[in-house]
Amino acid sequence: MSIISDSLKRIKPSPTIAVTQKARELRAAGKDVIGLGAGEPDFDTPDNIKDAAIQAIKDGDTKYTAVDGTPALKKAIVKKFKRENNLDFTTEQITVGTGGKQVLYNAFMATLNKGDEVIIPAPFWVSYPDMVLLAGGKPNVVKCEEKDGFKLTANKLKKVISKKTKWLILNSPSNPTGAGYTKDEIEDLAKVLIKNKKVHILSDDIYEHIRYDNFNFFTIAQISKLKDRTLTMNGVSKSYAMTGWRIGYAAGPKDIIKAIGKIQSQSTSNPSSVSQAAAVEALNGSQDFIQERSNAFKERRDFVVKSLNNIKGINCLTPNGAFYVFPSCKGLLNKKTKLKTDSDFVKKLLEKENVAVVQGSAFGLEGYFRISYATSMENLKKAMDRIKSFCESLS
Ligand code: PLP
Repeated sequence: MSIISDSLKRIKPSPTIAVTQKARELRAAGKDVIGLGAGEPDFDTPDNIKDAAIQAIKDGDTKYTAVDGTPALKKAIVKKFKRENNLDFTTEQITVGTGGKQVLYNAFMATLNKGDEVIIPAPFWVSYPDMVLLAGGKPNVVKCEEKDGFKLTANKLKKVISKKTKWLILNSPSNPTGAGYTKDEIEDLAKVLIKNKKVHILSDDIYEHIRYDNFNFFTIAQISKLKDRTLTMNGVSKSYAMTGWRIGYAAGPKDIIKAIGKIQSQSTSNPSSVSQAAAVEALNGSQDFIQERSNAFKERRDFVVKSLNNIKGINCLTPNGAFYVFPSCKGLLNKKTKLKTDSDFVKKLLEKENVAVVQGSAFGLEGYFRISYATSMENLKKAMDRIKSFCESLS
């Protein structure tokens, strides 16, 4: 009898972490690898945030805190939702965890019974289906097409909602496509959800602050009829370049928030006290650098999209947020190139040109690949030259 549990056999390790690890290994073996797989900003955490953490250590802020977040951090989060999203929450409607990842995981563990379905629009962030499976739920993956900007449409949503649907996940701007839903698009989906009356919505807003071309961020909890059925998840990892500090949070109905806290109380307890103090400064301190950094990301996005669209066989949409692009490599999957799938494409690209990207099928949509442009312009220039020569060598 295997020592490993059945629930663990249902899931696989994160493919994006696997690519990053592979690139690290090749680099350690002396290869000049350019990693475009990692989902984290290359910028450093701003100094005012680091200073707040150092001060917290000096002040002895080094003990257990309340399980689901310090009162100071919860207050800062309440203020953030009011200031940026015009949403009113009380501190009892807020939970803080060790990264957005833990908050999502706890939310599924707290709410899913065996067989409950979760609608996951694809391409999706790699962890959603596996988290749902771990919690005993059933992912209901809905493929969203390039012609719809990789976004879920109201028509598709209508068709996939069933009696067993418990959650719909929305992620805007999206990992892996960078696509952001406009207010109109969210209102269209909302009409279906308001009619349905039952489905809860998990809105993953982790890339809220990384957006371009005056894209107006809108989150589904702003639709008043849905606020009581929405759990809005966010965090400091991406916006404040704080991936290693591990602070994420969510706001929503009190019963769900309480249940999430219950799981946390019997698993990890509170997120790091020092990281929480840093997150208070991130949310309450100056927000000026967010725009500066978005400008730098925009320059890279423009360069990457243009370079990719200059390569025969590659086609790339221009996303309005996050730091990813999701180009199609379908034009290069044929008998002549001897590449059948996006995984073949990605594998050969790494072997021949030492560029690490992630296959679209890992995100639930075949024929594409994801590039993270959260790296220096110098790296991106080298990478685009290498991708071009790789693609040209195929024909
Ligand atoms: N949601 C999405 C869409 C992500 O891309 C990530 C990180 O890659 C997360 C949530 C979780 O972020 P963290 O756990 O660092 O807060």
